Amino acid sequence: MKCVKCRQPAVVEVRRHNAGFCREHFVEHVLRQVERTIDELDMLRRDDRILVAVSGGKDSLALWDILQRLGYRADGLHVHLGIGEYSSESAVKTRAFAEGRGLTLHEVSVAEELGFGIEELSRRTRRIPCSACGTTKRHLFNRFAREHGYTVVATGHNLDDEAATLLGNILHWQTEYLGRQSAAMEATESGLVRKVKPLVRLAEREVAAYAVLQGIDYQVDECPMAVGATSHLYKEVLNRLEEVAPGTKHQFLWGFYERGRRHFPHESRTLNACKVCGEPTTGEICAYCRLAERARAAAAGTR
Ligand code: SF4
Ligand code: ZN
Ligand code: ZN
Repeated sequence: MKCVKCRQPAVVEVRRHNAGFCREHFVEHVLRQVERTIDELDMLRRDDRILVAVSGGKDSLALWDILQRLGYRADGLHVHLGIGEYSSESAVKTRAFAEGRGLTLHEVSVAEELGFGIEELSRRTRRIPCSACGTTKRHLFNRFAREHGYTVVATGHNLDDEAATLLGNILHWQTEYLGRQSAAMEATESGLVRKVKPLVRLAEREVAAYAVLQGIDYQVDECPMAVGATSHLYKEVLNRLEEVAPGTKHQFLWGFYERGRRHFPHESRTLNACKVCGEPTTGEICAYCRLAERARAAAAGTR
């Protein structure tokens, strides 16, 4: 197969575009796809102070790299989750990436916040690890961004991630989540910082190819807590459909953004300041503080 741009041998094939690309033109293609997503969904402004949520995996490091190349001001925040060797290695990769490019990286640690990491948090609260982890990360990213004057938090969710989430929300008719599922969530007066997912036009394998071609040294191991996560099954199902009909994932997700989501309720919720930490919440005490309290109570043997 030849590159559609220069007819040199292709190194990456993108079946849904029915196109092959050489290294140079694949990189250009990726940058263009992200730029288009940012423009179409009005995600970022040139004067934004962007905080990239960097885990050390391919998606977040590729995102940070791409935003730099597109000329945005973006710093990183890495959250140490306290998941054994996986977390220590992720931190090493993230630091090396930032140092190698002279980028500003902030770090916070769940263990320093709570006294223990995600593994123990999930055990103590009997919550599914990814659910406890998600609540914790959302809280820490929003709080950090707000306290340090960042105007937007960018995450590396790709097309596969978002299509799998959409499939899960539809299978369970989570209408409230469907109304809110978006790649660009506006800030609220109550203190939720704007959140964007600029990679949602790129499939997981395209992001991986980009990371490899750009020489990004990322954490290749999967989080051990993700074993058995239903999102893996949804991704597998979607990949199977994509094999037979290239473009299915894109149509599914972007069709939802463009034509589906408006049919689901999207009420602006009244948010209050959490009585414990001050972060925005629909109730009196935010999900993170309730989780932390449950974990502490379990440790004290009161439940
Ligand atoms: Fe957290 Fe789950 Fe992701 Fe592991 S896989 S980092 S537990 S959300
Ligand atoms: Zn080319
Ligand atoms: Zn709180």
